[in-house]
Amino acid sequence: MHLSVTTRTLSGIPILFAALLAVASAQAPRSQTQSRQLPFGAEIQAEVSAQNRQQDPAFAERVMRAFAAAYPGRLGEPVFRGSDWAVSLGGIVYYFAGGRMLREPLLSRADEFLPHSFYPYPAELPEWKSPTAEQNERFRTIRERRQIQTLKHSQDFFDDLWGIHNHAQGSARMQRMDFLGKKLIVHYSIMEEIALVEMRILEAAKTNAAVRAWIQGLQSATGWNWRNIAETASRSYHSYGAAVDVLSKPERGKETYWLWTAQKNMDWWAVPYSRRQHPPQEVIKAFEAYGFTWGGKWLVYDTMHFEYRPEILILNGLPVLRE
Ligand SMILES: [Zn+2]
Repeated sequence: MHLSVTTRTLSGIPILFAALLAVASAQAPRSQTQSRQLPFGAEIQAEVSAQNRQQDPAFAERVMRAFAAAYPGRLGEPVFRGSDWAVSLGGIVYYFAGGRMLREPLLSRADEFLPHSFYPYPAELPEWKSPTAEQNERFRTIRERRQIQTLKHSQDFFDDLWGIHNHAQGSARMQRMDFLGKKLIVHYSIMEEIALVEMRILEAAKTNAAVRAWIQGLQSATGWNWRNIAETASRSYHSYGAAVDVLSKPERGKETYWLWTAQKNMDWWAVPYSRRQHPPQEVIKAFEAYGFTWGGKWLVYDTMHFEYRPEILILNGLPVLRE
């Protein structure tokens, strides 16, 4: 979300999440024992396992196949070239490169880039468990570690995927549409998915009072917003018009975005789900059904944020509908 007053822009977390992973991994390698504790369920699992997994060729193949399935007609069939999995996008070959998604000329400089995060995404929000002392210690410094991170992601692959490399191209590819009575500006290629999400939400509202109340309380829907992820040098999915923030009337005492919580000097990670503002389950399911991940399932939570990442859902064995 993005109402903040300063330069703080918000959300678009998966890329941010990767930055966090890279920093955490570089500074504090964790043991297998710790990775089995899973105090926040899959959220923590994501944090501890992503870096190791991304070095595995079998994982590289799975990610590339998930991309090809997510964007049929735009990406070629994944192939194993040299020593790595690669996929062709608009005639340009991209290598997995440990999750960095690099063109061939950049492969020799791979360690100058942060890996993107192809994170575990659970079908259901895992049951809440209080953080352990060790986690409290580790999560307390996430924000600081993010801020001192100097490596950047290569944006080339995602820029090419969305056909947006600068503000002017972004503007040219955006379309204005209605979403539950609010004006929304998104990438032209996901308008149909958004319309299908809306239909599913309206269908649920017929029999579900919580969904009706949520629609009534909707204050805005924000899609395109040219900017980086808060406190990072990485491009937000809002820059592609491929993320949507659905902002509801604030509920007293409930948190929505980890950085806002962090700015109140609270232990943002320890705020249980019961004190976070979550959309109704049916709304989350409607977005997920058509290829969107929900920021409420991320460790660095952003409960109003949905972004179009069908490759993440497919990678995690979740179905993505197209019509
Ligand atoms: Zn957002």
